[in-house]
Amino acid sequence: MPLVNSKKMFEQAYKNGYAIGAFNVNNMEIVQGITEACKEENAPVILQVSKGARAYANHTYLVKLVEAAVKECPEIPIVLHLDHGPDFETCKACIDGGFTSVMIDGSHLPFEENIALTKKVVDYAHERGVTVEGELGTLAGIEDEVVVESGKESYTKPEEVIEFVERTGVDSLAIAIGTSHGAYKFTPAQCTVNEEGVLVPPPLRFDILEEVSKKLPGFPIVLHGSSSVPQEYVKMVNENGGKMPNAIGVPEAQLRDAAKLSVCKINIDSDLRLAMTGTVRKFFNEHPDKFDPREYLKPARANIKEIVRHKLRNVLGCAGKADECK
Ligand SMILES: [Zn+2]
Repeated sequence: MPLVNSKKMFEQAYKNGYAIGAFNVNNMEIVQGITEACKEENAPVILQVSKGARAYANHTYLVKLVEAAVKECPEIPIVLHLDHGPDFETCKACIDGGFTSVMIDGSHLPFEENIALTKKVVDYAHERGVTVEGELGTLAGIEDEVVVESGKESYTKPEEVIEFVERTGVDSLAIAIGTSHGAYKFTPAQCTVNEEGVLVPPPLRFDILEEVSKKLPGFPIVLHGSSSVPQEYVKMVNENGGKMPNAIGVPEAQLRDAAKLSVCKINIDSDLRLAMTGTVRKFFNEHPDKFDPREYLKPARANIKEIVRHKLRNVLGCAGKADECK
């Protein structure tokens, strides 16, 4: 089947209590690792491209890699989505260039300007069958070129969501409830320490999510910055020459709970980066004589596939749901 927009996926995800995984893609091995897992697990998927990915790999290469995945995985629905579209021109370029979904991130703008910009993108996108994600509230952390200092983040205000959604016509909304971009989501000072001496991050603000859902029944909510930063990969990085002290993410159980509610799209990027980097570091450490990129990218791709499989089955709940999303 050809690329699809996110409409049917979100309807089904909302109705049936799961979320679609949105994974960032930057090169061939990442595209293959993700889509091979989704194909084997019969899961719908969103492949998303950031401004940084377009700068790194070039728009055409990324679109062609995703088109190759569509051809190799004809039985699962795949969305090609722009992550954090910074302006109308970038969104337009992606819509004209084959994307089936875009995000316009006006969250840093004053409310009225965010509405005006988002509506402009929605009008252009909807005429072309492309779905649009907006954002209200600001997440902390770093994602490619989106940098928000800790302390400058702000939770989504539930009283603003109805007006924003009605006036813009967006198809989904990213909200800030305590998730954060990157592999250092919380400082040790923000965490408590459990009996085993492990840092426990502050819980997500489910009260805000519930309040938003009550105001917008049936409307799909998106969570950004939702990697869990698996400690086995942090350990693998650190044991093989890396240095990632206190890397910490969102507990998977909380994401599973969010997916059962109105959250229909969960963005996961850092976990795949960690799996890839940990695997490559370990390979180099164990095989200092090797220099064929295929030899270290092959296990890296395999571990991306396994972490995606784990997310589909145990966090998102969308394994086996491809058919109902077509
Ligand atoms: Zn994001």
